[in-house]
Amino acid sequence: MDLWIATSNAHKLKEFINLSFSSPFKIRTPKELDFYSSPAETGSSFLENAQIKARSLHKTLSDKKAWVLAEDSGLVVDGLGGLPGIHSARYAGEKARDSENNAKLLKMMSFKSPETRSAHYMCEIFVISPDGEESHFPGQMNGQIAKKLSGTGGFGYDPLFIPDGQTQCLADLGDAFKNKHSHRATAYKAFLKSVL
Ligand code: IMP
Repeated sequence: MDLWIATSNAHKLKEFINLSFSSPFKIRTPKELDFYSSPAETGSSFLENAQIKARSLHKTLSDKKAWVLAEDSGLVVDGLGGLPGIHSARYAGEKARDSENNAKLLKMMSFKSPETRSAHYMCEIFVISPDGEESHFPGQMNGQIAKKLSGTGGFGYDPLFIPDGQTQCLADLGDAFKNKHSHRATAYKAFLKSVL
């Protein structure tokens, strides 16, 4: 069964491929379609943005009998009123690199009291089935924002995110930990469970 995943983020794709290892899905991506361009993420929530991405890819595909999945995710920091939230990818500017987003996060946190470092990663997966049925699956991982960068694994804010119950950043904890506990893993496993 083909499962089209509406992402151009190589890190997310790698996670989805690892999580699909023993599933019957063959992962396909818009990279295979030279006529596809991803839509503007104009939604006001993770769910709305995931829905926009999934519906846009579904509309483009000639094979309406394939599964289509889109994901929108980000980091929600309590002490920053929920920022960067749906703006996580472009917190420090439209084409910001992860290092620039992390630098901005550390700077913004430096103005806050040490008690306000709680945060969570949020993910919404939006799926369109071969019958055209739509469903969505949320996933969340709670933690704290570290005071300095650490680790080389993962991507995005992982060098600054310490999951609850851990003393190291997600970027130190490795792929196996992330594939077991992450917001994306939780949402994706719920999707797999719903169809298999
Ligand atoms: P999206 O591609 O518009 O959903 O933006 C996702 C952004 O949220 C990424 O570019 C990261 O900044 C952040 N993000 C989402 N999931 C993760 C994760 O698992 N680790 C680190 N950062 C993440």
